[in-house]
Amino acid sequence: MAAKTKFQAIRGTRDLLPPETALWNHVEWTAHEVFGTFGFGEIRPPIFEPTELFARSIGLETDVVSKEMYTFRDPTEELDKILIDVLRFAEEKGITFGFGSDNVETPAKVQRILSEQPLLQSESVTLRPEATASVCRAYIEHGMQQLPQPVKLYYMGPMFRRERPQKGRYRQFYQIGAEVLGGGDAPAIDAEVIEMVMTFFDKLGLTGVELDINSIGHNAPDCRPAYIEKLRAALEQVKDQLGADSQHRIETNPLRVLDSKLEHEQAIIATLPRIADHLCPDCAAHYAAVKRQLEMRGVFFKENWRLVRGLDYYMRTTFEITAKGLGSQNAVCGGGRYDGLVELLGGPPTKGIGFAIGEDRLILSLQESGKGAAPQGRDIYIAWMGERAYATAVRAAKDLRNSGFSVELPPTELKFGKALERADKLGSRYALILGDNEVSEGSWTLKTLVDGTQQKFTEPELLEFLKQRKSGS
Ligand code: ATP
Ligand code: MG
Repeated sequence: MAAKTKFQAIRGTRDLLPPETALWNHVEWTAHEVFGTFGFGEIRPPIFEPTELFARSIGLETDVVSKEMYTFRDPTEELDKILIDVLRFAEEKGITFGFGSDNVETPAKVQRILSEQPLLQSESVTLRPEATASVCRAYIEHGMQQLPQPVKLYYMGPMFRRERPQKGRYRQFYQIGAEVLGGGDAPAIDAEVIEMVMTFFDKLGLTGVELDINSIGHNAPDCRPAYIEKLRAALEQVKDQLGADSQHRIETNPLRVLDSKLEHEQAIIATLPRIADHLCPDCAAHYAAVKRQLEMRGVFFKENWRLVRGLDYYMRTTFEITAKGLGSQNAVCGGGRYDGLVELLGGPPTKGIGFAIGEDRLILSLQESGKGAAPQGRDIYIAWMGERAYATAVRAAKDLRNSGFSVELPPTELKFGKALERADKLGSRYALILGDNEVSEGSWTLKTLVDGTQQKFTEPELLEFLKQRKSGS
């Protein structure tokens, strides 16, 4: 006997099921709607990209790139190796190849021709851990700098990071994000992007929303690098009081020490120099203007000098939004400005700002505050008995579905009592009762299941009645 294998979803991944998926759809449709009103269009980049795209943009010293990416070699590499062996063999034996009609080519030339075929060029690919790099890659690839600037794009979909799974943290998770590329770095752009996220959360009725903002300056000698040197020097002074992670980060990425959640490091961090006191005049002015612009839009925020964001490409404005009911994974949105990123990826100098919302956490928070989706019942359950009634039932189901009602038509005959029981269990609003009597009379009985009342209708009357009830409720 063959052993039975019990398959399970891979650790850190999960199935999203009804009725919860109705809430996911509601969230996604609200995003389409709200982002549309701000003039954003949807982009759907691929799920995997060259590893190099993420390594270069996110940064080698980040957790994401150093240990969390799902990376694999495209198997065509193996094919390449085999091919090279075959060609070498042919070379030794003096075998030549015909290409096209009658051209005779040497193995060396064949190898050159084949190596120019993109399909045979293997590369290391990675399941996307985030989508900003992809959006910038697409901006460059499609020459979007030729379009009216700024280009405003949003996306939604799965991301992949090999992290320790826990509440609100998965290995396949979902993000909804947006990017504004090109068209300058006016503080109004930063403020409007933030206003858009807050409008979206507001529309969803997300509770306990808190927006933290900060400026992390830019990469010029009189700005962030000077601050980082001060910070590093200050950290060296207290090094032996810090944990191993923070000690390591003094070398690799001292800003990230500010991000530490370790209890015993908090008092030490509170004494460190703050970037707001070390911004260059331009960055300081930009930050002040962003705050004014947020106030103009009635967007409440809290300044948080320790907010640094985990990815390398951020500069100037950074922000994070937290919500209720999520425990320690309470960040539902992270974002910021990344003016150098497009250029870093080989494009023209381009300003950029964007954010990514953790959809899983957003949904969790909505559910915790009682805004989860109620199980979706059927509108109409058709209880039929008899051959003739069945033919009518099939036609009725088709008409009702065409009019937008959800209809359950049992595939085999059930006694009326049994059928009504099932209708109840499925949370149906109405039962349409069709027996041979009803069919010969041409009148259909509709039972309202909450109160048990029954009414008789002709077919057109019935449709009319249901439509009115639907638009009325
Ligand atoms: P965190 O500090 O919580 O790890 P992050 O800084 O790594 O977040 P970003 O890369 O900025 O997160 O991604 C933006 C948002 O995506 C986060 O605020 C969060 O809501 C969500 N997110 C990130 N990683 C995960 C994950 N593994 N599972 C679920 N959601 C995630
Ligand atoms: Mg993270």
